[in-house]
Amino acid sequence: MQLSSSNSSERAAELRNLLNKAAHAYYILDKPFIEDSIYDSLYRELITLEAENPSLITSDSPSQRLGGRPAERFISTKHRIQLLSLDNAFNSKELDAWFSRVKKILAQNISISLGKKDLEMVCELKIDGNALALSYERGLLVKAATRGNGIEGEEITSNVRTITSIPLRLHMKNPPPWVEIRGEAFIPNKTFQAINLERKINQESLFANPRNACAGTLRQLNPQIVASRKLDFFAYTLHLPDNWETKENSPKIPTNQWQALEWLSNVGFKINPNASLVNELNHVEAFFNQWEKSRKKLPYETDGVVVKINEFKLQQLASSTQKAPRWAIALKYPAEEAPTQLLKLTCQIGRTGAVTPVAEFEPTQLAGTIVSRATLHNADRLTFLDIHEGDTVVIRKAGEIIPEVVRVLQELRPKDSKPLTLPKNCPECNSSLIRETNEAVTRCINRDCPAIVRGAIRHWVSKSAMDIEGIGEKIIEQLVKQNLVKSIADIYTLTSDILEKLDRLGEKSSDNILEAIQVSKRQPWHRQLYGLGINHIGEVNAKTLANAFPNIKNLSVAACKNPESFSQLYGIGNEIVESLKQWFNNTNNQLLIDQLSAVGISLTGESKTTDNSGGQQNKIHRPLINQSFVITGTLPTLTRQKAKQIIEDAGGKINSSVSTKTTYLVAGDKPGNKMAKAKNIGIPILDEKDLLNLIEERSQNPKQI
Ligand code: NAD
Repeated sequence: MQLSSSNSSERAAELRNLLNKAAHAYYILDKPFIEDSIYDSLYRELITLEAENPSLITSDSPSQRLGGRPAERFISTKHRIQLLSLDNAFNSKELDAWFSRVKKILAQNISISLGKKDLEMVCELKIDGNALALSYERGLLVKAATRGNGIEGEEITSNVRTITSIPLRLHMKNPPPWVEIRGEAFIPNKTFQAINLERKINQESLFANPRNACAGTLRQLNPQIVASRKLDFFAYTLHLPDNWETKENSPKIPTNQWQALEWLSNVGFKINPNASLVNELNHVEAFFNQWEKSRKKLPYETDGVVVKINEFKLQQLASSTQKAPRWAIALKYPAEEAPTQLLKLTCQIGRTGAVTPVAEFEPTQLAGTIVSRATLHNADRLTFLDIHEGDTVVIRKAGEIIPEVVRVLQELRPKDSKPLTLPKNCPECNSSLIRETNEAVTRCINRDCPAIVRGAIRHWVSKSAMDIEGIGEKIIEQLVKQNLVKSIADIYTLTSDILEKLDRLGEKSSDNILEAIQVSKRQPWHRQLYGLGINHIGEVNAKTLANAFPNIKNLSVAACKNPESFSQLYGIGNEIVESLKQWFNNTNNQLLIDQLSAVGISLTGESKTTDNSGGQQNKIHRPLINQSFVITGTLPTLTRQKAKQIIEDAGGKINSSVSTKTTYLVAGDKPGNKMAKAKNIGIPILDEKDLLNLIEERSQNPKQI
């Protein structure tokens, strides 16, 4: 966001204030109150503001300092060699930029042009722990310290002596006069859980994460407690005296990072086994992508990948800034949480009229994508979050889940900003919004509200319902805005004349849409039922109901007059029956059923059973009835979804795992361990062709079932 200069200086001051408080809580108190990704993002915002306007830089800005001061309860000690931080890259563009910068600096310093081999890089996992500086003299561990501010740290030697993966004496003959080793102390995830469980039992405050628990442990005054917490350590940096010469039988002096890791391993350190030596940026990205997925399986936390130029000579030439080496970069995993500034609150009206408040904010990188809006769910959530105009909010997107606002950073709230609430009237049709007592949802109850009509059409044409290809969002918007379609039944009255008048819709596309509309009339009964969008009737419930009731009339009679007939149906409880009853009792919906019937949507299974009692089983011929199927691997032509649909339409059931009750396993390419299990139990295995043949044969010869 472009801020005015007075706004910029106000924002910079707020950011400085919050970041300094957070750094104190993190480095000194070991009690962070914001997540690292939020800290990183706000820190970057401050750096950008300062870069755009250097007069905003103050001496107390976190951008001018590295890490934290040494804590007072330990003796502070000066490092022989400074411990720097690492610059971060959050995407491949930033990684590219780093690589170009390094190459440029190196090219300025050396006359020979750099070949591929000259720019070998070591990719290491970035262990999310605490850096330690270990000093050895004549092979003996004499001092261990935290990083502190990089120049001075806290002396914690007796604590570090309890870490069994740190050798107290280097495993080598004729050790150098001194050796400085850096690496990461960490607490494995399982140990972390056990520590927190014990703290919970003892009613002590819990550690926020393993890194935080490790920092707290390293600063324990009682080494016995440190020993009981079973810290671990990976070494990754080696400094040796410049003029040291190896004696016979001593390990060779490393000239690059890859050899340094080997040296560290030879003298008794644990090094992380997952490092890789590469010579192309593509390989760095492949390494990063692989570990972004696989890291969850590691028994310890990592928060990215550290990329280091391999050759020490080149590292020296690239040198360092005040805070970080230029020859290395930390490529961080995409954050699942990020802070951003709220621009406005809008409302979305769903097909049932439910109002969902939506926060619109500055576009922000989150879990690998850029997001600019996130749901606030409902009015209660809005009140709970206490969002004000111009607030900085924290948004989250875990896995594939849609982004949501999780909290507000009140410290960054602009002065005099007002709380945000839901509007009283529908932003689409201006009718009053209603909220029933005991309901979390606020609704627009005007059936002709364009948003509700659009939602109903969107749902009816969707892939899982009537699957009418070509009627996308833009077309739906025009059809509703121009009053060409007022209900889902009107879709079937569309003509090429009408469609061709719509924006960007030529003759061919309009023909395709009309064809898809006609084809949709053959969709099975359960999809038609699902397409009606009755509250609580999702795909699964629609299938159950369509199996039990041959047509909409039976279903309506049962819901309104004979609710007990649902009692035997798995998954259909009172709430669902009540929702059906309400839907059928609405005269507008009865009218819709008539309209649909008039345009050829039967709302019935194929066999027209005339039983009106409600609850009768559908008599349609279903060749796979009572058979259960499990699918594994990739089928040559059918998608998983399509294969599932074919089996279910033929009356078969799909299960996710193989058991003695499975009738057939349908297997494609690269089957999982379901194949072995099926073979073990003796379940017949079908390929795609066998499956289709089976359905066809049985359809022609029903007696085989
Ligand atoms: P950093 O953690 O981003 O990176 C540098 C560190 O990486 C090194 O000091 C080292 O300890 C570690 N590391 C792990 N594996 C490594 C490897 N293979 N090779 C080299 N180094 C490796 O930077 P930082 O300066 O230590 O700390 C900044 C971090 O602290 C940020 O990520 C920030 O989020 C966090 N922080 C959080 C808060 C908060 O309130 N949550 C406050 C201040 C700082």
